[in-house]
Amino acid sequence: GAWERQVRHSATPRRPNGFTVLVTGAAGFVGSHCSLALKKRGDGVLGLDNFNNYYDPSLKRARQDLLSQHQIFIVEGDLNDGPLLSKLFDVVPITHILHLAAQAGVRYAMQNPQSYIKSNIAGFVNLLEVSKTANPQPSIVWASSSSVYGLNTENPFSELHRTDQPASLYAATKKAGEEIAHTYNHIYGLSLTGLRFFTVYGPWGRPDMAYFFFTKDILHGKTIDVYQTQDGKEVARDFTYIDDIVKGCVGALDTAEKSTGSGGKKKGPAQLRIYNLGNTSPVPVGKLVTILENLLTTKAKKHVIKMPRNGDVPYTHANVTLAYRDFGYKPVTDLSTGLRKFVKWYVRYYGIQPRLKKENRIDNEQPDDS
Ligand code: NAD
Repeated sequence: GAWERQVRHSATPRRPNGFTVLVTGAAGFVGSHCSLALKKRGDGVLGLDNFNNYYDPSLKRARQDLLSQHQIFIVEGDLNDGPLLSKLFDVVPITHILHLAAQAGVRYAMQNPQSYIKSNIAGFVNLLEVSKTANPQPSIVWASSSSVYGLNTENPFSELHRTDQPASLYAATKKAGEEIAHTYNHIYGLSLTGLRFFTVYGPWGRPDMAYFFFTKDILHGKTIDVYQTQDGKEVARDFTYIDDIVKGCVGALDTAEKSTGSGGKKKGPAQLRIYNLGNTSPVPVGKLVTILENLLTTKAKKHVIKMPRNGDVPYTHANVTLAYRDFGYKPVTDLSTGLRKFVKWYVRYYGIQPRLKKENRIDNEQPDDS
């Protein structure tokens, strides 16, 4: 029927040896950017997203519109819907999965712990269950998180550091995902690559993240909370620009091994791989605020609060040597450059530009469509 035709049209590659990639969380921040990048180079892309209301669903719908302009179809459904996933695998030969769907955010677990278990653990297992029997067996790249380093204070974080002290339920479910991936790799020969993203930001970003709501609150003259550690040190994050993350995801897909099938009878199972994807240059949150104040030509009203805030870690810093060695990952965007692009997108998307005084306009060029 019409649905199958849409799925096929979206998922069929337009380059020789192109991939057919199922992108879960395609209406999300990282998923929408990755879908566009893969489509642009000629891969077939099929999205899956449940359009949940963790944050403003109209932003997810707007990303969906952008993707549909590029002939990318997003199937509306849940990771836990086994029959739906099986049906997708029946309609098109999925060669790769970029699994980005998850319950993100750290503090929301205090309100809705079950959503983390459902999406990040049960949903992931369901995707792996369908993948293990699929023919061809897809190679899977999925989003883990820097939060798995938890309360570890050795910096910068390298993949060999301990990850047994999660500071939030979110982190615990991301860590569980890595353990579960290991099992499916070992028993079923599934090729699995986990990417530990470090605080991703940029155009079309997530409204629940600090850089986003700081921008909003500064523009509306609202006071923002800035956190410090108990000893007065500033909280710092290894903010990583979305285009750098997209390159990392594509690089990981390009170098992913083939799945070897049950028990790895062919040549031994593919290796489970885990990589940091960060910017290697942490920035204190106070500096983030200063950059935003400059871009918005507006002083922020600040309220300084001492940590600990449940679930947060004070400092993140990625070592990305491994990702550089294996697929040439090299972040190139500094925070000022990346935030400038974010702010350009923000004022256009929310129609704020025309309301700013002429001297406060961000600039007059056309913002990226990315
Ligand atoms: P996002 O919330 O914008 O995107 C996730 C998408 O998945 C959403 O559109 C949501 O509707 C969808 N989704 C959630 N549960 C689902 C389910 N059960 N079935 C189907 N769809 C579902 O988040 P993002 O920032 O794009 O993050 C992408 C991935 O990267 C996530 O796995 C997240 O945990 C991870 N990550 C993100 C960051 C970051 O800073 N943005 C940092 C570390 C890790």
